[in-house]
Amino acid sequence: MGLRTIVLKLNKPSKRKCLVIDEAITNYNRAYRFLLEKAYTELKEIKDAFAGTKGTQNALALSKWVSSERSKELNQFDVQPFKDALKLEVGMTLAGYFRLKALRPGTSFPLANCRTGTEVERLRPVYFCRYDTGRSYCLLYDSEKNRYFAKLHLLNAKHANKVVPQQGDQEGKLTYIHRSAGVVERGKSKEAYIIVPLSFGKYQEEILRASLERPEILRTAKLGRKDGSYYLAISVDTGKAEEIRTETYLGVARGLKNDLCYTVADPEGNVVAAGTLSRTGQTSKNAAVPLDELHKAANSIVEIALEYKSAVILQNLLEKGDRLHWADDFMNSQPIYNCDAYIRMARLLAFKLPEKGLPAPVKVSSVGIFYSCHVCGCNSKLNRFNKDTFICTSCGATLEIEKLGSLNLARKLINYRHSTFKIKVRSADDGVWFISRLIGLNYFVPHHENQIERLREKISLIVDDILLQSSETWNRERNKKASIAKKIRSVPDFMKLIEFV
Ligand SMILES: [Zn+2]
Repeated sequence: MGLRTIVLKLNKPSKRKCLVIDEAITNYNRAYRFLLEKAYTELKEIKDAFAGTKGTQNALALSKWVSSERSKELNQFDVQPFKDALKLEVGMTLAGYFRLKALRPGTSFPLANCRTGTEVERLRPVYFCRYDTGRSYCLLYDSEKNRYFAKLHLLNAKHANKVVPQQGDQEGKLTYIHRSAGVVERGKSKEAYIIVPLSFGKYQEEILRASLERPEILRTAKLGRKDGSYYLAISVDTGKAEEIRTETYLGVARGLKNDLCYTVADPEGNVVAAGTLSRTGQTSKNAAVPLDELHKAANSIVEIALEYKSAVILQNLLEKGDRLHWADDFMNSQPIYNCDAYIRMARLLAFKLPEKGLPAPVKVSSVGIFYSCHVCGCNSKLNRFNKDTFICTSCGATLEIEKLGSLNLARKLINYRHSTFKIKVRSADDGVWFISRLIGLNYFVPHHENQIERLREKISLIVDDILLQSSETWNRERNKKASIAKKIRSVPDFMKLIEFV
């Protein structure tokens, strides 16, 4: 079960409805404080009576502390519609308090943070502890206009109103978002609820649309006021897994002999696992990859990502290619996944990974991933010795081309965060020269000055200069300068990025 909260704005409620909501929130908070004050005087008894088997108090058990007599006392606050929610919230508050108290005996009773008054914005929101068409709250849908509404049971019988629907009422014909899908009938009897149109973004709309098919995903809700607007925060069971905190990077690149190759790297860039993915059985070269095979490949990647708790990193093939093909050998030169197949597979991962609680894949530029050395970083066309073999012309490191691509992908984000830039240090008789062609640094500091501080100031000035220059003319040199300048500005202490050579 994966509970997420979606926040919906109440769209321009009328003055009367605003008053009803403000009053409900105010009353709710007064009743909540009343219960907490009572609980405070009976703490010892509550603790003894409701001690669980392991000595811990469970919120639901604690909510039973509110006897039916005390429950009647709550009527003075006009909170009849919220009694169950109030009991539960007080139960949760008490359970939390007892748990903290056991850990830290100095914990004070939460009465102090419990406000009442007329400043609605500073009060706790009203809690709806169930989704229900007859009480509590529920959502309504106008299929003609594709609009959503909230039906909020905020009034007790005494304050219920007879509402006569008016001609041209914007609420139109509303159906319950519920298995019953019944139509809301207005104007027949007194109404202890208000109906308010909702406004929201794309993400929320997607979930609301899903709730039309599966109303049971809608759970509890909270109604509050913030920055002058009213909002309804609904807890939704998306059925998705809990979010997983990733610990490694999983690069997945196109292959030449295999469909796909992958590498799992830890945050330091060390290889944790590597392998290939290929279809079983006969496959004809250069034929389109069938959809079910793309699904299978994506599922395998999800499994690996789950096993290693990985953030998946994919090639961005939409803009620039990866130059994996080998021009000298035309017959067998093409990657098995053409760009289209890889992009389709990436789209599958974009929803398969979040379903399992993993982040959506990150797409990075694939320029140079089959040509950059995994040991020294040297990037050269000449590093590709032949179709399948990589031999670094600078340091001699060697690896299969296929494996190199996914390894470079897996390290792509690490490299970005960890990569340093070099500054040459040259001693002279009376001081030191700092030189970096990359950022245009050629700076002399005499021995009697604080060299690191002077250098820090100088680099700061250069970076400001670079960032102020307009980027009118595209130029590889300038781009590099700008990107290093941005990086220097983005870290707390740029001196740590510098490698003195
Ligand atoms: Zn190398």
